[in-house]
Amino acid sequence: MKKQKIFQLKGRFPSEILGSIREMKEADSSWANGKMFGFVYSPCNEATELMQQISLMYLFDNGLSASHFPSLARLETEVVAMTAELLNGGIEAAGTVTSGGSESILMAMKTARDHARGKNPEQAVMEVIIPRSAHPAFHKAAHFLGLRTVTLPLGADYRADLSVLHNLINDCTIMMVGSAPSYSHGVVDPIEEMGLIANEREIYFHVDACLGGFFLPFMEMLGCKTPRFDFRIPGVTSISADLHKYAYGSKGASIILYRNREMRRKQFFVHCDWPGGLYGSTTIQGSRNGVPVATAWAMLNYQGIEGCMELTNKTLLAAEGLKKGIGSIPGLTIVGEPVMSVFSFTSSKIDIYSLGDELKNRGWILDSIAEPPALHFIVSYQNLTHIDEFLDDLQDAVIAVKKAQKTKIANAIERKIGAQAMKLFPGMVSSLIGRKAAHNNMNNGGRENSSVFYGIAASLENKSSLNGLVMDFLDEVYFLNL
Ligand SMILES: *Cc1c(COP(=O)(O)O)cnc(C)c1O
Repeated sequence: MKKQKIFQLKGRFPSEILGSIREMKEADSSWANGKMFGFVYSPCNEATELMQQISLMYLFDNGLSASHFPSLARLETEVVAMTAELLNGGIEAAGTVTSGGSESILMAMKTARDHARGKNPEQAVMEVIIPRSAHPAFHKAAHFLGLRTVTLPLGADYRADLSVLHNLINDCTIMMVGSAPSYSHGVVDPIEEMGLIANEREIYFHVDACLGGFFLPFMEMLGCKTPRFDFRIPGVTSISADLHKYAYGSKGASIILYRNREMRRKQFFVHCDWPGGLYGSTTIQGSRNGVPVATAWAMLNYQGIEGCMELTNKTLLAAEGLKKGIGSIPGLTIVGEPVMSVFSFTSSKIDIYSLGDELKNRGWILDSIAEPPALHFIVSYQNLTHIDEFLDDLQDAVIAVKKAQKTKIANAIERKIGAQAMKLFPGMVSSLIGRKAAHNNMNNGGRENSSVFYGIAASLENKSSLNGLVMDFLDEVYFLNL
């Protein structure tokens, strides 16, 4: 079959182009209705309009050059300084804005690697101790940087198990990681204790506060009892905190912060033997969009500390309402003891992923997690006024699942893998069973039914074929079949 040309000879009218994009966008999940928990963090209308105006001002500017665009360098420096204050970094604290949590984590691990190299240039094997609950970005970074990962198991409370940590540390250990909080369970690892160990053994210690960095400090200001995780703990070397999550910046902004400038220098890259002249860059990116840093700066200034505290308070109240409502339904339980507005709930009585499907049919979008099988919440501004509506629908959905369950028995492991695959690319699992069929299915009154896909997972026997399946998704999703 001859491949159709996608890049047309003739240009198209703006109206036509807008039409095409609007049409494609119809397939996207809607979040503006407040029914999506996670993925999107959007602030109030006034702040949104402010961010839109600022985005237009920086659409084409380039953050690569501080000399041509000093305003962007200034905005970045101020955002970093505000974050350093919030996380109790001393006057020596220094950091950079990156494109997201994954890049912040990659930068921390590169810094840790180069720090270790500086101490011992002979060291061939470098190990990073990563709690099982830590974000996959740590494994991704280790993969990129040639570092070996060592998994720290979790205790019954889903926090990193300290009793095992000592046994994992050896001469190869160059770095330890903790989360504040973890994505899956919303619990904070024992950062204080880990910091002590890191300090004693002189191991680089990174705290992943991508979620908590712009939330936990405001909880503390509100007088909530929260676990400490920041630079007040002596062993902490660096912290990641996402601006595009609870700081409500537009996507593409995170902070990587170091205890001191000397450590930050190990992140930078310089190349001076080039016909183009001297080249220096702070992060992965070369040319950089100015919008993310400018909108993040705008949001921090728009809210101020008081505004952040107020929003944190409202978000906590909404999360508490959700947890209480969920807990009052027999058979549903909150996983572990989540500290903020990120948590999961599970069930010993009903199939939790089927419940996710039922909720989806009612317009609610929740992520699902694997261990334990559970549905996942990140509560943010757009959800605040939709909590009661959710709890009403949840009751209905539970009843619907109970009814359906009587007629359907499925293998628990199949379900787990199937739903995980679904979560990666909802609707795209279908590429394996024919895009056309799936398209029809998706247009089938918009009803989601992930159990359709469980069959595919049934053929899988081990983790390596699961890796293969996910690799196939990635390969398929970003390939244009005309
Ligand atoms: C979101 C997140 C990350 C990764 O951040 P991205 O912005 O998606 O790259 C890392 N850690 C935690 C805890 C997160 O929630």
